Amino acid sequence: MYSSINSQGVLEDIYQDLYRILYLCCFLKIEARILMYQQVEIKVAPEFVSDEAYQLSLIGDSLGMNPSAFSARLVKRSIDARRFPAHYLLRFDVFTDMVPDPEPALLSEFKDVSEAPEVLIIGAGPAGYFAALDLIALGLKPVIFDRGKDAQTRRRDLRAIQQFGIVNPDSNYCFGEGGAGTYSDGKLYTRSNKRGEILRPLKLLVEHGASPDILVDAHPHIGSNKLPKVIANIRETILHHGGQVHFDAKLTDIILRDGEVKAVRINDKKEYKCDTLILATGHSARDIFYLLHQKDILIEAKAFALGVRIEHPQGLIDKIQYKQSPRSEHLPASSYKLVTQVGEKGVFSFCMCPGGLIVPSATAPGELVMNGMSMSRRDSPFANSGTVVTVSEGEVIGYDDAGPLKLLEYQKMVEQSLFDKGDGSQKAPGQRLTDFFNRKISASIQENSYIPGVYSAPLHKWLPTMIYEPLRQAVKDFGRKMNGYFTEEALVVATESRTSSPVRIPRDKESLMHPQVRGLFPCGEGAGYAGGIISAAMDGEAVAKAVANYKTTR
Ligand SMILES: Cc1cc2nc3c(=O)[nH]c(=O)nc-3n(C[C@H](O)[C@H](O)[C@H](O)COP(=O)(O)OP(=O)(O)OC[C@H]3O[C@@H](n4cnc5c(N)ncnc54)[C@H](O)[C@@H]3O)c2cc1C
Repeated sequence: MYSSINSQGVLEDIYQDLYRILYLCCFLKIEARILMYQQVEIKVAPEFVSDEAYQLSLIGDSLGMNPSAFSARLVKRSIDARRFPAHYLLRFDVFTDMVPDPEPALLSEFKDVSEAPEVLIIGAGPAGYFAALDLIALGLKPVIFDRGKDAQTRRRDLRAIQQFGIVNPDSNYCFGEGGAGTYSDGKLYTRSNKRGEILRPLKLLVEHGASPDILVDAHPHIGSNKLPKVIANIRETILHHGGQVHFDAKLTDIILRDGEVKAVRINDKKEYKCDTLILATGHSARDIFYLLHQKDILIEAKAFALGVRIEHPQGLIDKIQYKQSPRSEHLPASSYKLVTQVGEKGVFSFCMCPGGLIVPSATAPGELVMNGMSMSRRDSPFANSGTVVTVSEGEVIGYDDAGPLKLLEYQKMVEQSLFDKGDGSQKAPGQRLTDFFNRKISASIQENSYIPGVYSAPLHKWLPTMIYEPLRQAVKDFGRKMNGYFTEEALVVATESRTSSPVRIPRDKESLMHPQVRGLFPCGEGAGYAGGIISAAMDGEAVAKAVANYKTTR
């Protein structure tokens, strides 16, 4: 190493080596911290799901270490019910050196945007509200218009539907602050596997009052008793940072010039100038689809799904899934997901609500629409799910004059024809599952969760054949897949027709802007880019980024 013996030179070399060793030590220390992190998965019986000391001892056993020598952070909680007895799987990040500092709150990156350029958003659903939050983070001012009322005031209109069958076309289970997500089941999972992108809306929900459990649960859920407060807190964030939110403010016209958005008209009266418009009005805003079509703004028919709600006693589903009834008090109400193919047609369960209720989700008088919701504890004695058949444009006969609105007209016809067969209220026609299969009118209808009431009816005759026949075969197949599912204890109620939008509003893949109208950004479920709360929120965030990009390059 040393080319010549020279005391000065030797000392310099020694200092240099010492420096290198010191540097290496620091480097190794950092490296050691990283290496001293690992993930450990443990299996615990339900009664130990909240027992942290016991869980630390299990982690210690698996690492051969004393629990005092490490700290552990829960990152994923799921239930494995494949074998009896069901147990929890808990995944932890384990640190033997030091726990990294928590990440800064996402809200800390939000700016005051009261003087920033405005972006108009129509719709205060998950797509609209999460677009607004991200616009604020990006330094733009969201101005939101929603036809409905704030989440709290909206409750009165829900009571009117439930108790008196009165449907307010601007304030109901689909319309109003928080959109269709507010008084829903509040399931927060999506088929998307972009974990990073899913985490952002979940973290924002936690920062607005949702339980941090949603960050670790494999099937996160909030519940309709807690969601309205979280939604109201999001509104407060938007207002606090200089955004605006207007209720009872329905978009009735979009004013264009030279293929560009120039203004919107609200409630057929006031005009608001704008050059950027996020249209996040959800899949039930039929007036918006009519408006776009009438203005020759390109829209397309899109395959959607239609069928029924099926409700079982929750105890029965628990018995099937957990092989235990009553279930352990430490296990949540169990759920299921079923799918089958009947000929060319896909039939699947959708929006399963364990411990939930079937609710009347019509958005206009004269139609019958079912959906499902639950409270955070999911403690009703019923389990319901939509059970639907895919419907594509080529299968529907007639309605050709409607052009891209063909499937929307078909959807509307089914909802209205079922309503017309009733007594003019929101009472729903129903049938026991076995009678539904055997094409028999049920002699009696069992107790159920649908508050307006269910009456016995020949759904096998009332539903279109192209919907009934695949459903009939599917429920028998589901019974084979899930022993106990096909039972007279289950109730079929019609109709489940708003699982997805029958129309797509096209947009460019890169700019996310409508191909014909500059400044128009179709967003969320109604435009055909989402299916559920979290995917709508993620789409809102993606559109906010696209809008920011558009604003800077204009
Ligand atoms: C009862 C029920 C239960 C559900 N349960 C779940 C669940 O557990 N998990 C899940 O992921 N999904 C659930 N969903 C679906 C979920 O709510 C939707 O996928 C999601 O809300 C779509 O978000 P969005 O923002 O795209 O549209 P929406 O939530 O439909 O919001 C659209 C908003 O636009 C407003 N609007 C419409 N037209 C106009 C207009 N002309 N002018 C101004 N404003 C207008 C409406 O008032 C509404 O607030 C449920 C839906 C219902 C109805």
